[in-house]
Amino acid sequence: MSERLPPGLHIVATPIGNLGDLSPRAADTLRFADRILVEDTRVTAKLLQHVGAKVPMTRYDDHSSAGERERIVAELGDRVIALVSDAGTPLISDPGYKLVRAARAAGHAVHTLPGPSAAVAALTLAGLPTDRFLFLGFLPAKAKARSDAIAEVAGVRATLVLYESGPRLGGTLAALAEELGSRDAAVVREISKMHEECVTGTLAELAIRYADAAPKGEIVVVVGPPAEVEAATDEALDAALREALLTLSPSRAAADVAQRLSLPRKRAYARALELAK
Ligand code: SAM
Repeated sequence: MSERLPPGLHIVATPIGNLGDLSPRAADTLRFADRILVEDTRVTAKLLQHVGAKVPMTRYDDHSSAGERERIVAELGDRVIALVSDAGTPLISDPGYKLVRAARAAGHAVHTLPGPSAAVAALTLAGLPTDRFLFLGFLPAKAKARSDAIAEVAGVRATLVLYESGPRLGGTLAALAEELGSRDAAVVREISKMHEECVTGTLAELAIRYADAAPKGEIVVVVGPPAEVEAATDEALDAALREALLTLSPSRAAADVAQRLSLPRKRAYARALELAK
């Protein structure tokens, strides 16, 4: 057992781009742990080399078998086991929660070494309200499931934070614009790396910008909360829809009104269908 650290599970946040963001305490824990649980040994090997750590690594994720988890938990009473992910804070869209739960259930100590996480870092760059935010992780890949997931949170009065990849960014922004209407948003890319950037605009503007231009690198999308006008009354919605329905189909009328009143398109469409009857 390490002389310097208490036994138990140590959750260690690691840099999301800039190695200088590894805290001294995190570096010490990686050096003096008895074993490090990792997602990918090749990725973590570079970090260990950076801090001069020569500690055995074991692959671990939430799909690891219950038996494997039990073997790890059995060591926690007298050994220092560190858990890292490829980058950022373990458990945040990364493996670990089952292990933390199992360690606690067995009465072992769980320590955390807080540090970088792309979601929080993106919030600090986006310039959108941070008093309430909802982290959505990765949205589903399939279009219908993705739209449903967005519709589910359309009424939540909080800034939304989600992880995305370059090739899927355009489609996700278009789906967000369609379901959420006009909201301020930010595409935050390559945080703490050489090409860090934060592009802001409305969801519609960003959807157009990235429609045919998949950016490279790692991405967080931040979407501001619904505007106050979203509290538009049923009467205001009906009045706007009735007028729009004079010239437009229910679907077009709903899209138009939802955009103008900053309402979820689904709510406007359901009402447009009723009014069109
Ligand atoms: N646990 C990590 C954390 O705390 O941020 C997140 C792991 S998740 C599997 C990886 C996703 O995080 C990437 O696909 C990207 O959306 C986001 N991400 C990670 N590093 C990033 C960076 N440097 N800039 C922007 N987004 C990043």
